[in-house]
Amino acid sequence: MNNPIEQYRQLRIQVDQKATVLESGHSDHMACQKGCCGCCLNLSVWPVEFYSILDEMKRCGWKKPAFDEAAGCGFLKDGLCAIYPFRPVICRTHGLPLVYWHDETDPPGWGVMFCEKNFTESDDLAFGPDNTLNMDEINEKLARLNIAFIEAHPELNLMPETRIELRKLLDEL
Ligand code: SF4
Ligand code: SF4
Repeated sequence: MNNPIEQYRQLRIQVDQKATVLESGHSDHMACQKGCCGCCLNLSVWPVEFYSILDEMKRCGWKKPAFDEAAGCGFLKDGLCAIYPFRPVICRTHGLPLVYWHDETDPPGWGVMFCEKNFTESDDLAFGPDNTLNMDEINEKLARLNIAFIEAHPELNLMPETRIELRKLLDEL
């Protein structure tokens, strides 16, 4: 399976599977629920993700969704994600304990980030590889797939650093 878009979708499945396990394990410490959308902000994504989402929406016969300019993310409708089945990887990690390497700390090291509404009474909760999501690993995989996608599509004239606002879906559907 060499197609970067197919590999992106496999990565997304893996993220969903890990997210399901983590949500279950942390359910006592997470306030995430339908209609809670404080974490939703307008996003830009790498081209591999943008064109995968666009392709899926077209294949599923989706027309231009509504876009609320006043909302944190314009794809919010009544507090829910209007493009939920197609949402980017980052949206699938909302609320989970996410691990990143921090070069700027002294000494540099791994740090865990999560929504301030979650893990509010978890002073004694030990975070480790088994109960967190390593976002650096996921982002590295995404970056590699994005380079492969760009190289496979010179006609799109994309650069490795190109990001595409998710709202541009509206121009393409
Ligand atoms: S795409 Fe959906 S889940 Fe992602 S930020 Fe927007 S509304 Fe939230
Ligand atoms: S991450 Fe925070 S704002 Fe987003 S759904 Fe969970 S509790 Fe709500």
